[in-house]
Amino acid sequence: MEQNENLGPLFEPSAVAVVGASRAPGKVGHLVVSNLVHAGYQGKILPVNPSGGEILGLPVTASAGELPEGLDLAVVCVPRDSVMAALRDLAAIRCKAVVVITAGFKEVGREGYHLEEEAARFCLDHQMAMLGPNCLGLINTANRLNATFAASVPDPGEIAFFSQSGALCVAILDAARGKGIGFSKFVSLGNKASIDEIGMLRYLKDDPGTKVILGYVENINDGQGFLRAAQEATIEKPVVMIKSGSTPSGARAASSHTGALAGSDDAYRAAFTQSGVIRVSGVEQMFNLAQAFSFLDLPAGPNLCVITNAGGPGILAADAADRLGLLMAPLRGQTIEELRSFLPPWAAVYNPVDIIGDAGAERYARALDVVAADSLVHMVLAVLTPTPAVDVEAVAEAVARQARVSGKPVAACFMGEERVARARDILRAARVPCYDYPEAAVEALSALYVHAEWKKRPLPVEVCYMSNKFQARDVMEKAQAKGFTELVEFMAQDVLKAYGLPVPKTVLARTSDEAAQAAKSIGYPVALKIASPQISHKSDIGGVVVGIENEEELRQSFLNITNRARRVKEAYVLGCLVQEMAPKGSREVFAGFKRDPQFGPLVLFGLGGVYVEVLRDVSCRLAPLSLQDVSEMVREVRSYPILRGVRGEPPVDFKAIEDVLLTLSQIAVDFPQIEECDFNPVMAHPGGALVVDARFTLGKTVHGKVDNGA
Ligand code: ADP
Ligand code: MG
Repeated sequence: MEQNENLGPLFEPSAVAVVGASRAPGKVGHLVVSNLVHAGYQGKILPVNPSGGEILGLPVTASAGELPEGLDLAVVCVPRDSVMAALRDLAAIRCKAVVVITAGFKEVGREGYHLEEEAARFCLDHQMAMLGPNCLGLINTANRLNATFAASVPDPGEIAFFSQSGALCVAILDAARGKGIGFSKFVSLGNKASIDEIGMLRYLKDDPGTKVILGYVENINDGQGFLRAAQEATIEKPVVMIKSGSTPSGARAASSHTGALAGSDDAYRAAFTQSGVIRVSGVEQMFNLAQAFSFLDLPAGPNLCVITNAGGPGILAADAADRLGLLMAPLRGQTIEELRSFLPPWAAVYNPVDIIGDAGAERYARALDVVAADSLVHMVLAVLTPTPAVDVEAVAEAVARQARVSGKPVAACFMGEERVARARDILRAARVPCYDYPEAAVEALSALYVHAEWKKRPLPVEVCYMSNKFQARDVMEKAQAKGFTELVEFMAQDVLKAYGLPVPKTVLARTSDEAAQAAKSIGYPVALKIASPQISHKSDIGGVVVGIENEEELRQSFLNITNRARRVKEAYVLGCLVQEMAPKGSREVFAGFKRDPQFGPLVLFGLGGVYVEVLRDVSCRLAPLSLQDVSEMVREVRSYPILRGVRGEPPVDFKAIEDVLLTLSQIAVDFPQIEECDFNPVMAHPGGALVVDARFTLGKTVHGKVDNGA
C-alpha cells in the first residue's frame, strides 16, 4: 500500500496522546504513559480513557474526539475491536500520526487481515501516518520521546534501527545498554500495514541525527519500491540490514534450469547488491558494523595497517583482511625506519607491526603515530592481548588520543573479557570502535571500505538496444493463440532474431532430403535437433546430435531422432533443425531470467553444461540491468577463470556475453508475459557468443507496470 510520506509528526510531535491509557501498572496503556513521562519527553502528554481522572498526575481526556485539533501523534493501545473507532475519532480532530500498538491483526488470520487493511486505508485517506499495528512503538532519543511499552530507553547516538520483529527490539534495547551503542531513532514496524522499510529509509536518509541505518526485515512486499528507496538512501549514508527467513519461491515446480537455479533468497541478494545495502547475517555483526559507521569516517582506500602486541591475532587480522577484500598496507621505507628506531630489535616492523608483548601505552602511541602518517595506510587497527604486565587502560587512552589526531579511521581490538572491559569503555567513549576479536574488527573496517567504494561508483549506465519488438510480440501472440505456454528453440529463435541476438544458422527440415540440402548450404559439421512444440528438453529424449560430419550420418541421425520423438506421446513432430555448429573451443554458459513475485525479473548467469544444477555457480541481478551490472555478473561467478581461459586458452568475448545479458534484461522488461526464459547454452568463444538453445515460458499473469507496446 502507498504510505504517508510525512513522518515528521511521528518522530517530532509537540504533543502525544495515549488512546487507551490505563491506571493499572503493568498494562500496556500504563507503560506507554509512564515511559513518555519518565524518558523526559518535553511535549504535552495526553492520556485518553473514558473514565477520566488522572494518570501519573496527568489529566485524562475522556475520548479521542475531545483531543486538541491538529494533534501530532496518538499512540493507540485500545482492544482490537475498538481500534477503528479510535482512528475515526482521531481523524475527526485531524490527528497527523498514529502508532497502533494493539495486536490481533494480520498475524492472527483472515478477520484480522481485513481489519488491518481497513485501518491502513483509513489512515491513508485521512492523511495520518500509521506505524504498526502489532508493534512496540518508537523511540526518538533526540527529543526523548519514548512512545513504546518497552522497559528500557537506549543511550542517544547516531544509529537508527527499525525492525519487523518486536521481540528483537526488546532484546536489542536490553543488550545495547551500557555497551556504548547509542541510537537516534528506534522503531518497531510491527505488521507494516502502512509505514514499512521503504518509508523508514526515505525518512532516515534525511534525518540529520542518523549516521547509519540498521534494519531487520523478514519479508519485503514492494521489492521494486524497496530497491529505489535503498538506492537513494545508500547515497546518503550506510544501510546495514538483516534479512531473515525465506519466502516460498514461486509456487511453480522447478521445471527449467532458471527456475531451479534461482532460490527464494536470490532476489533479495540481488536487491541488496544493486542498492548498496550491506547485508549481515546476525545481530552481533550488525552492531559491529554500526559501531564503525557511527564513530568513523570512511577510509580513502583499502589499505589496512595492523599494530599488535602478539603475533597470532595479527595473523588472524591479516587473514581476515585478505578474505574480506582489504589489503595489508605495504609500509613506506621511511615508516619502517622510524618504527625500527624505537621498537625493540625483535619487533616486526612490517605490517602487521608486532610491537611485542611488553608494549605499553607509549609504544602503542608512537607506533600508531608513525603508521597513521604513512600515505600508503588508509586505516589502522590496534590489537591488544592483555599480557600480564600491560596497563590496559593506559593503552586504551593512548589509542584514543592517537585516533583523534590521526585523521584516518582507527579501530581497536582488545581481546579478553574482564581485564579489558574498562578499556573498551574508554575507547568507545572516545569514539573508537572496539571489538572482541580481530576478524570482527576487520569485518567492520571492510564494510567501511565497501561503502566508500559504493559511494564513489559511477552512475549506472542503462542500455537500450534497437529491436523489433513488434515482430517478437507477433511470435508470442501466435504461439499463445495456439495454446502454447512454452516457446521451444525453433519458435524462440524468431524472438531472438527480432532482438538482434546472435543465433547459429538454423533451418527447419521436415524430411531427410530437406535436411541434407540444408546441411550442404550451412556446411558440415552440423547439429541436428528435434523440432516439436511439445519437446522442450530435447536431449532428454535423444533429440540432439552434434558434430555431424557428412550426409550419410545426417540422414541416419534424422531417422533416429524423429523415431525417438514419435515415441513421445502427444508430441507433434515437425521435423528437425539443422544447425551450424558453434566454433570449437566454445565455453558453454547459460543466461536466463525468472520473475520474482516481489522484485520482478531476476536475470541469472552461470557456466552452462550438465553440472549447472549441482554447482549452482550463478550470479543474479534484477532487471533492468546496467552496464556495470552485467560486467559484475560475468566476473563474480566462481568459474570466471574458465571464461578467461586456462592453460593457454584464449579468453572468451566478454562483451558479447554482456550484450546477451543486456538484451535478455530488455526482453524481460518488454514482455511481462514471459514468466521465465532460458538460454542454455550460450556458446561463448573468443570471437563472440552464440545462443544455440533458447526457451521461453509464457504465463498469464502480468507483473509490473511495463508498457507492453502499442
Ligand atoms: P536441450 O533441449 O537438450 O537443452 P540443446 O539445444 O541445448 O538441447 O543441445 C544440447 C547440447 O548440445 C548443448 O548443451 C550443447 O552442448 C550441444 N549443442 C547444441 N547445439 C549446438 C551447436 N549449434 N553447436 C555446438 N554444440 C551444440
Ligand atoms: Mg539446452
